[in-house]
Amino acid sequence: MVSNPKTRLALIQMLVAFLFLFANAPWLSAQTSTRLEITGTTMGVVGYSVVAFADSDVATELKASVAEELESVNQRMSTYIADSEVSRFNQSTSTDWFSISRETAEVVQKAQEISELSDGAFDITVQPLVARWKFSKDKSKLTKIPDKASIAADLKRVGYKKLQVRLDPPALKKSVAGLQIDLSAIAKGYAVDMVAERLQAMGLDNFLIEVGGEVRASGEKPDETSWRVGIEKPLPGAREPYQIIALYHQALASSGDYRNFFELNGKRYSHTIDPRTGYPVDHAVTATSVIAQDCTTADAMATAIMVLGRDGGIQLANKAGVKALILSETNNQLLATKTANFPSNEKESMIQEGGSFLKLVGIVSVFFLLAVLAMAIGVICGRERIKGSCGGIAALENPDITPECSLCSRAAECNDLKKELKKRQTETDS
Ligand code: ADP
Ligand code: MG
Repeated sequence: MVSNPKTRLALIQMLVAFLFLFANAPWLSAQTSTRLEITGTTMGVVGYSVVAFADSDVATELKASVAEELESVNQRMSTYIADSEVSRFNQSTSTDWFSISRETAEVVQKAQEISELSDGAFDITVQPLVARWKFSKDKSKLTKIPDKASIAADLKRVGYKKLQVRLDPPALKKSVAGLQIDLSAIAKGYAVDMVAERLQAMGLDNFLIEVGGEVRASGEKPDETSWRVGIEKPLPGAREPYQIIALYHQALASSGDYRNFFELNGKRYSHTIDPRTGYPVDHAVTATSVIAQDCTTADAMATAIMVLGRDGGIQLANKAGVKALILSETNNQLLATKTANFPSNEKESMIQEGGSFLKLVGIVSVFFLLAVLAMAIGVICGRERIKGSCGGIAALENPDITPECSLCSRAAECNDLKKELKKRQTETDS
């Protein structure tokens, strides 16, 4: 039927492209799956949840895999578990290389990069100060703020430049014996990313993972809507959303001084500590939210921005290429400052994220491809070349134009049509 080899090749290419498009259409696979939800607690008191659309028979494996991953992150990085890798490193006073797992080394390396980028505002060696301000294991209330001398003494063993990390073989090295690390501001985001890797390895594409408020989304829901995540209003005790964000293939993490703080003599002390001064941050910024490609980055950046405050925070976010929202409170009024690319509302974030928008483009492309395919098959079966529109009206107005219509490949009929058009034109003119 299709004798020309070139035409046959083109037809096969089109068919392959068409089948590829359909085979990879994520919205099709999402529609055939069940909603699986896993919830629990990790890292002591941190709640987590995983929602995924998948075949129901993977539910047991999914649950076990998520629990195993979170347990392994906790065993390595907790400062609450006495024999965790981090705790053992903190207890050691040796200034030699200290062997650790590759996973912990990678998190420390990422933390060090963000310390460098933020000029030390983010710093995992802040641990002695976190303990001094009773935000660590010992949460007994402070009855007076620490004296300047003790803060100055702590600062001598704080500073990311006093810590080295290597990946091969993975190890950490302190240059002062008393240096200790605290991964609380990055480990939750990292745990989210690790769980996401587990799900991806199981072949899952459509899921939402949350660990202690840090989230990461992949794909979308079977009803073709994006995952929706709320940013909380930074008010102690309140749990209402400030803004809803549509997430497609990104992570969102938040930091704030409205949940984890203590009050002394009417003043609020935040659990975010400025490692350069030794004191809890003390500015109008009450909450920060960061959207990034991965949750490890989003988590650490949210804390870094919390330390830097409004202007420095926006500068850092732009330098790091992440989207940031900074909420400040002045005279009981919330003021929002955002990087230019932070979505203003849910609709904008949907377009930015591209979930539904991409899908629309995908569907339109498929219909377009179908139309081209149908045309091609029709023309090839009729042994004609593919032509554009005849442009009959143009031909009537100007007979010199040779219309590129489907009669072009049938010279006799085309000439008859031209003669007929010319005749009609002459009759109209006279
Ligand atoms: P949350 O735990 O509420 O998500 P963060 O991600 O901001 O909040 O983590 C805050 C924790 O990180 C603190 O409780 C403390 O353990 C640690 N931390 C405090 N200040 C810093 C800092 N400047 N850099 C790195 N970690 C910090
Ligand atoms: Mg954080």
